[in-house]
Amino acid sequence: MAYEKTWANNPNLNKTELKKLKKDGLKIFEDIPYYAKHGFASIPQEEWDLFKWAGLYLQKPKEAGYFMMRVCIPSGILNNEQLETLAGIARDYGRNVFDITTRQAVQFHWLRIEQLPDIFERLTRVGLSTAGACGDITRNIVGNPLAGIDPHELVDTTKIVREVYEFFQRNEDFSNLPRKYKMSISGNVYNTVNAEIHCISFTPAKKIIDGKETLGFHVKVGGGLSSAPYLAQTLDVFVKPEQVKDVAIAVTTIFRDYGYREKRHRARLKFLVADWGIEKFKEKLLELTGPLPSKGEDVQKGWNAGYFYGVHPQKQKGLNYIGFNVPVGRLHADEVFEIARVAKQYGNGEVRLCNSQNLIIPNIPNEHVDAVLQEKVFERITIKPKSFIGYSVSCTGIEYCNLALVETKERMRRIAEYLDDHLEIDVPVRIHMVGCPNSCGQRQIADIGLQGIKMKTKDKGMVEAFEIYVGGTLRNGGKFNDKLKGKVDAQQLPEVLAQLLTYFKETKLPGETFFDY
Ligand code: SF4
Repeated sequence: MAYEKTWANNPNLNKTELKKLKKDGLKIFEDIPYYAKHGFASIPQEEWDLFKWAGLYLQKPKEAGYFMMRVCIPSGILNNEQLETLAGIARDYGRNVFDITTRQAVQFHWLRIEQLPDIFERLTRVGLSTAGACGDITRNIVGNPLAGIDPHELVDTTKIVREVYEFFQRNEDFSNLPRKYKMSISGNVYNTVNAEIHCISFTPAKKIIDGKETLGFHVKVGGGLSSAPYLAQTLDVFVKPEQVKDVAIAVTTIFRDYGYREKRHRARLKFLVADWGIEKFKEKLLELTGPLPSKGEDVQKGWNAGYFYGVHPQKQKGLNYIGFNVPVGRLHADEVFEIARVAKQYGNGEVRLCNSQNLIIPNIPNEHVDAVLQEKVFERITIKPKSFIGYSVSCTGIEYCNLALVETKERMRRIAEYLDDHLEIDVPVRIHMVGCPNSCGQRQIADIGLQGIKMKTKDKGMVEAFEIYVGGTLRNGGKFNDKLKGKVDAQQLPEVLAQLLTYFKETKLPGETFFDY
């Protein structure tokens, strides 16, 4: 039985809401075969937005009919067959571009409507899906990329993430949320998932229950970035591993039924949490879940922003995971095939993607580590990147994104290269570049955040420019970065950053980082 859309009679629903009431976003999957047969011109313009529910956005300019497609990869964990399938899509349809996102998903570009049935068939064959990768729905679930192999995990979240992912996949009870809805579930004690910036996060915790130490999770709600960033707040509840799915459903139900649907920019869970307060939110949650114990002991110890460079022992004796840098998250299809081959030849074929846009090859026996590192593909995709390219993150930008104000990805790569050529600092400096306030590249939590804008100049007219933000961190509860005065012409950005970083280098103590405060 369909659930009751309690908001349907609200007279102030925004245009998108009215459209979603007429047709659920997931229904677009049923129409794609027809459009694929009859070509891009057969798609009514008012349907373009619904493609998001199938993980598809139209690239810039929309009329050209090229799609960007995002594939969900829960916790970023891919088996060999899945990785090869994704590499094949990039090679056969995506002009060889394979982008790793800041939510452990993969993005392709240049896809045509005619190609989608074959692409969907390939993905389905290996258990992958684009449903929920975009749109007003539960997005790709971010998780510990080391789940199951992590010496620093309290709980192995592999099965939990899978269970929650499968519940929400193509679930029409939850496909019409007020807006996008982001979740993380991790048992890693170093916060590899950036827990504070999601709508809902399950973080590792323990509690004595009936005299016994019980491992489980705390729950944070109401985080999110964009132009009004919020850090998630912790609910006073303790959740056992077997309760994660029910709590995730309950929080999502609250968002679905009480989240704001009048103004799009107020439609994220963070605004509801901020307005209600964490106590009222908890009361509502318990109405749905029944009693939950109060908080236990938070076991998060610090913050690893998703970086795992080098060779590390797994919790399984004799096996290692190896962390590699993917410059600004972009790979060529040939590289992905090569990485898949190496993972299969020396490991169990798995590859894991990180929210830092990098990757991990797990399950490499001690005796094969050297052979892996000598593979040619790891000259560029290295375990020891230079300091700036190793810690640079970038969103898609104007190359493919309709909302972008400036070019980002290739620019960030060039700037990092320039800084690496001119400067050496004894600590990593995380630089994140975004092409607009939506902040897909998570500018707010960077040591140095660069946000693209347009700037009017006397001599050159409108030019691409950047605002510079400094001092973002998720350590010690988290703090978003602060804006420096003024803006910088994009042409001058490399030199300005070099000056700023030289000042940092010359005035800091040995080992002092941007987030020491
Ligand atoms: Fe596009 Fe803006 Fe997101 Fe960058 S931050 S990918 S420009 S929406």
